[in-house]
Amino acid sequence: MKRKIPFHRPSISVDEINAVVETLENRWTTMGPRTVEFEKLFTQYIGSTHSVSVNSGTAALHCALTVLGIGEKDEVIIPANTFVATAEVVEYCRARLIMVDVERDTHCIDCGRIAEKITPRTKAIIPVHFAGHPCDMNPLMELSQQNSISVIEDAAHALPSWYAGRRVGTFGDMACFSFYATKTLAVGEGGMIVTDSDEWADRLRMLRLHGMSRDAWERYREGASWKYDVAELGYKYNTTDISAAIGIVQLGRVEEMQRARARIAQRYNDVFLEEEALIPYIVRSDAVSSWHLYPLKLELDALKISRDQFIDELNVQGIHTSVHFIPVYRFTYYKKRGYRAEEFDNCEWIYEREISLPIFPDMTNEDVDYVIEKVLDICREHKR
Ligand SMILES: *Cc1c(COP(=O)(O)O)cnc(C)c1O
Repeated sequence: MKRKIPFHRPSISVDEINAVVETLENRWTTMGPRTVEFEKLFTQYIGSTHSVSVNSGTAALHCALTVLGIGEKDEVIIPANTFVATAEVVEYCRARLIMVDVERDTHCIDCGRIAEKITPRTKAIIPVHFAGHPCDMNPLMELSQQNSISVIEDAAHALPSWYAGRRVGTFGDMACFSFYATKTLAVGEGGMIVTDSDEWADRLRMLRLHGMSRDAWERYREGASWKYDVAELGYKYNTTDISAAIGIVQLGRVEEMQRARARIAQRYNDVFLEEEALIPYIVRSDAVSSWHLYPLKLELDALKISRDQFIDELNVQGIHTSVHFIPVYRFTYYKKRGYRAEEFDNCEWIYEREISLPIFPDMTNEDVDYVIEKVLDICREHKR
C-alpha cells in the first residue's frame, strides 16, 4: 500500500496547544513574562550564563556578529555546505565571507582546512553542526584561540547534541539556535543566542529591540516609567510570548524527541549499511547527534540513476525528501561575488549524492519501514 510521508512534521502535543491558549487568555502576546521564563529554562538546559531570544536563527547570528563589531575590514569563516543564512549575516555586516570545504563523512567544516584561510583580518569563525553532528570543536577552538578569533557556533541543528561529553552550544563565544518550523525545537519562528558574557548579553537585548535601553515589557510594568533611551542602532528582532509558551513545553520534550529521532536513524543505518549503493551517515564515537536530519548519500558508481532521479522515484512512492544543502557558492548572488565550485571538492561530492530522508519524532515504525523498503527497492531496480 502506498503511503504519504512528509519530509517533516513538527511534534505538537496538547500541552503546546494549551500553553498558547493560556497565553492568549492572559492577553500578553508579545515579548514578556513567558519569554523571560523560556530564556531562563534554556540557560539552565544548555548550561550557559545567558540566553537571549530573538525571532529567528538568522537574527541570532546577525546580532552575534554585530556584538563582535564585525565590519567592512573583517573576514568571517564559514563552511560552504550550510543554509544560506550563515553566509547572509556576514554580508549584512559588509564583512568578507570566507568559505571552507567540509568533511565527507560529517559534512561539518574541515578543521584541517581552516588554518590556510586565516589572515590578520579574520575576526570570526561560524562552525555549523551539520544535521546535529558536532563539529570537531577541540582543534577548532585551539586554532581560534591561537589566532584570537571569535567563534560563533551555528547550532541551528544541534539541540541537543554533545561533543566529547559536553553540550553543543557551550564551546564558542556565543552559540545561535533556530526554532524554525522544521528544527528540533519548533515554535514556528524563533531563535536564541547563548553566551557567558554579561556585557554581550546586555547588548544583545538592546539590539533585538531597536537599540532600546529597556525591553518594552519592563516599561509597561506597574509603576515603571515610560522613559527609555536608544543607545545604538538596533533591530526589530524580538520574539513573542506566544512562541515562548510553545518553546517552554518543547524544551521539556527535547530529549525525548531526540531519542525518537536517534532510534529512527539507527534503523536506517542498520539496513543501509548492508546496501552497497548507499552511504549511511555515521556519527563519530565522541559525538551524540540531535539527528535533526538524516543525510543519506548514494554510491553513484553502483547506480544507473542520479541523485535527482532517486528523489523523483521516492516522490512517486509518496516519500518527500530534501537536500542539505545547495552549497552557498552555487547561488547566483554568491557566484556574482566570485565564489567558485572548484575550491570545494567535498561539498560538490556531497551535493551530488545527498538526500535527506524523513526523520521526525512522530514517524511511526511502519513509516520508517516503508521508507527503508522503498529506498532499497529503488536501489535494486537501478543497480548498475
Ligand atoms: C535554519 C538555519 C538557520 C537559520 O535559522 P532561521 O530560524 O530559519 O532563521 C541558520 N543556520 C542553519 C545551518 C540553519 O539550518
